[in-house]
Amino acid sequence: LGAPARRTLLRAVIMGPPGSGKGTVSSRIVKHFALKHLSSGDLLRDNLQRRTEVGVIAKTYIDQGQLIPDDLMTRLMLNELKNLHRYHWLLDGFPRTVPQAEALDETCQIHTVINLDVPFETIKQRLTARWIHPGSGRVYNLEFNPPKDVGLDDITREPLVQRDDDKPETVTKRLKAYEAETKPVLDYYRKKGVLESFSGTETNKIWPLVHAFLQTKLPEVSQEESITPLWY
Ligand code: AMP
Repeated sequence: LGAPARRTLLRAVIMGPPGSGKGTVSSRIVKHFALKHLSSGDLLRDNLQRRTEVGVIAKTYIDQGQLIPDDLMTRLMLNELKNLHRYHWLLDGFPRTVPQAEALDETCQIHTVINLDVPFETIKQRLTARWIHPGSGRVYNLEFNPPKDVGLDDITREPLVQRDDDKPETVTKRLKAYEAETKPVLDYYRKKGVLESFSGTETNKIWPLVHAFLQTKLPEVSQEESITPLWY
């Protein structure tokens, strides 16, 4: 990425529950606009892999499905953001708590929080769509590649099962936890007047809205130019 042309650099956050299409929307944003995308989950996984001190401490929390303590998480992210101060940026997965949002505010003003607002039932359908044939490991998805007969493996005709993670009870629990955790953060940004919610049941319908919104804030990357030439 070259140095951005505008003087005001975008400071944005993207939020959305698991299954909201946040990953897809984020990757499309990165493809269309010249900005740096910083994901707390990716940053943590990178630290885990490299066995940094932060990574070793973080692992104990992640393995238990717990959030990383605010001070550690904040230090990690703010430190990383120092390297990005000359770029437009979009945070993903951070801030996840009000203390994190407050700590971020002390360093810089957030202009926009993109909130993906997808109905609970839609998300639940997506996250519970995966069924597995335990004998072979064949994976089906009720939305993209459903079995010929509901609940049965195409080849052996044996029953399909769901992983614990994909069961409705587990998914509901996860979504409720996410909601309880992030609602205060959304409220925090709503009060500041920077929350922009995009609602819909399909990522392909939400994306054009996000795209149009960001076009008012950022220069767009020419799609032709961004393709690497064949001879490169
Ligand atoms: P994710 O990929 O966003 O689901 O993050 C994976 C894990 O990293 C989470 O389950 C948390 O344990 C941890 N994590 C990611 N972001 C944060 C954050 N902002 N605050 C605390 N923990 C986080």
